[in-house]
This record gives sequence, structure tokens and C-alpha cells, in this order.
Amino acid sequence: MLYYNLKNEKVTAGFTDAVENGISPDMGLFMPERIPQPDSGFFRRLPQMSLPEIAMEIGPLYTGDEIPMSVMRQICEEAFNFPVILRRLDDHRQVLELFHGPTAAFKDFGARFMAGCFRYFSSRDDRRRVVLVATSGDTGGAIASSFLGAEAIDIIILYPSGKVSALQENQLTTLGSNITAIEVEGTFDDCQAMVKSALAARVAGAKVKLASANSINIARLIPQTFYYYFAIGHAGGGKVISVPSGNFGNITAAAIAWRSGLDISSLVAATNVNRTVPDYLRTGTFRPAPSVATIANAMDVGNPGNFDRLRRVFDNDYSRFSGAVSGYWFDDDTIREHIGEVYGRTGYILDPHGAVASLGLDAFLEHNRGSSGIFVATAHPAKFKRIVEPVIGREVEVPESIRGFLTGRKLSVQMKPSSAELAGYLYERYGRG
Ligand SMILES: *Cc1c(COP(=O)(O)O)cnc(C)c1O
Repeated sequence: MLYYNLKNEKVTAGFTDAVENGISPDMGLFMPERIPQPDSGFFRRLPQMSLPEIAMEIGPLYTGDEIPMSVMRQICEEAFNFPVILRRLDDHRQVLELFHGPTAAFKDFGARFMAGCFRYFSSRDDRRRVVLVATSGDTGGAIASSFLGAEAIDIIILYPSGKVSALQENQLTTLGSNITAIEVEGTFDDCQAMVKSALAARVAGAKVKLASANSINIARLIPQTFYYYFAIGHAGGGKVISVPSGNFGNITAAAIAWRSGLDISSLVAATNVNRTVPDYLRTGTFRPAPSVATIANAMDVGNPGNFDRLRRVFDNDYSRFSGAVSGYWFDDDTIREHIGEVYGRTGYILDPHGAVASLGLDAFLEHNRGSSGIFVATAHPAKFKRIVEPVIGREVEVPESIRGFLTGRKLSVQMKPSSAELAGYLYERYGRG
């Protein structure tokens, strides 16, 4: 399988290069040259298949011969060693719970599969990998937990000081080992700019290989398709799927699975007040805006990084895109009220992100009577105790996996928002490569 660059479709890369580079030198996103079509036998067997089994069949369609079958099996078994749960709430609504991994958010799927790929790449040569990540919260924790203890791979995570939650900060700063957290006295955008400039300054043939693990890495997108096969396999076909969206990677994965032959009837792009895509669907004009802070903060994105990919899945055709995807957006008051309403009616506890998806599904079903659907819950409500508990009037139990992160000794490197400082740090630590 080859991957082309969305900025220049003539430039292609194999799976390994697309993953290790993350993004092309001209900042273009990689996209598979065609969407693989599993055979009809796969779809017939789907209702009986577990997530790792699905992963082992779909994964190789994307990696071709660049990852041997036995390695792929190991990557999938190790990456997806926690449950995915599809729960029925009533006759028309099911919830796909993607928050049972080690950091209690769906980013574990992408991060753990990508980490497995990097471990394999690094086992094939004797170069140390240094993986740089800028995070506004959840991504860094998922990456840190996925790469912890990986041999010959160092993880360096940049996060904006004072702008992530205490739990998130502990997930970045308390693991130690091969995980280094750099606390930047600036914004997430500063962190991202620092990572970009370090990558741009890479020297070919250096002893240390600098890589990036940002959210647009294709090795994070591919595994996000797996759970859509699982959900439709277990729920039956013809369902609408509502995805809580920020950078639009998760819904792009759903769209890719759909176009590979999966029986999805429609997609809902559900957002908080960062409504760039719902507005695009209504008007046909894509107008990125500065991000606005909300209680569903992992979706506070005004310029979704995966939008071009999603548009490409629908052949850059607005009418095809808007015929397949409906957009709805919701403000904080509506999200809070919905968490309370659903809890009162069913006893089910939503986190703010899952609540946005649930609201999106409700809005769709309202306009399409008789349909039924699945909404995606991306984070455990215990990660948002301070928002959820006052609304439902009871305590939310914290899952075992993240309980350890409520305490712990924080270790971080303080840094000014300066690319030169990061370059100096890397030089100090690794020499001139
Ligand atoms: C990252 C994240 C999202 C948004 O997913 P995208 O792929 O960026 O659209 C939604 N919910 C949670 C909890 C997240 O961490």
C-alpha cells in the first residue's frame, strides 16, 4: 500500500515512511492511495469477531508486506488488550464505549497501535528514536502510556503549563523511564510550533532519528477504523453513527470504514460550539476559526486537522460529503442539561464528549424517524468528575486504570516557548545526532 501526500498527490511513501515522518516535509497529510475493500467473507464473519481479530484482518490491508503477519498479530493483541463495549440504551440507541483502555479515553486505540509499529521499526536498525509530541491534554497521556518502557525509543512530550487538568498532567509527568515531559510556559500552539521546527531541522543520516507522533499520524487513524467494524458487526447494519468531533480524525476513520464496504447508513459530526464543520455542511464554505474553550475540551478545535482527509474520503465533493454526514453543534448548557437528563431517564452516566455525540444522535433521529443509531463515548466520565458530579448529584467511580494518576511525583523540564531552547535541549541530550 502506498500513501500519497494531500498537498501533492504525486509524492508517495510506503507505510513505514508515512508513519515515521508523520507528515510530509511540506506539511501534507498522508492518505492511503485507495481505501482497501475487505472481502465479503470478512463482513459475514464480523458478528462473531473480537476487536483484535478484526484488527488482524484489516491492519495488513494497510501495511502490506511492511509488517510481517506474526508481528501484526503481536501488535494487535498487545494494543487492544482491553474491552470495547457496545451497550443498548433503548430501542433506537446504543453507545459504543471506547474508554476502557489505560488512559480511559479513545486515544489509547491509535496511540497503542502506533507504538507497536514504532517498536517494530526500531527493532530493525540500531538507531535510537526520539518521538516528539505536542499535547493539549489527552494525546500525550495515551502516547506516554503506550510507549512506556519501549527499548531504544525516547518520548518527549511538550505541554502548555497550567493548561491541562491535574489528572492529565500526572499522566504525562509521573511515569519516568523513557518518558520526558517538557512544561512550556506558553500555549498548545507554541508547543506544536516547537515540535514542527525541531522536525524541520532534522539531519539525514543522524544517529538519532527524530519522529513525531502527532494526531494526524496515519498509524493513529487506521486503528480507529477497527472499532467501527466491531460496532456494526455486533449491532447489525444500517445504523447511523454519531461521533464527537474535534480534530475530525475519529469520524474520518468511520467514513473510511464505511467506504470500505461497511454497512453504515449515515454519519453525524457532533461538535461543541467549535462549529466549523457543521457550518461547512450547512453553507458549503469551510471557515476555520480560533478555538473556543468548552467543557468538552478535547474537542476545542476551530481548524480541524483532518478535515482535508475527510473531504477526500468523499472525493472532495460537497454534495457527496453533505449527503453522507450531518452536522450538529451544542453549547455547554445544553451538554450539561443532557448529562442530567440521560442520567435521570436511564441511569447512564455520560462524559461531556459522549454527551455531545448522544445529542447529535438525538437530533438526527428527530429528523429521521424510525432510524436507529450508535453514538460514540470517547472518555470515561470519571475524567470529568467536576463537571459531571454536580449535574447528576452523585459520585462517579474512578476506574482502576487511572486511579494511580490521582497522586504521584511530578517530574518535568521547564522551558520557555522557544524553538531554540528545544533545539538546545536536544543537542545537550543527544549531541549532534
Ligand atoms: C480527541 C478527543 C475527541 C475528538 O476526536 P477527534 O478525532 O479529534 O475528532 C473526542 N473526545 C475525546 C475524549 C478526545 O480525547
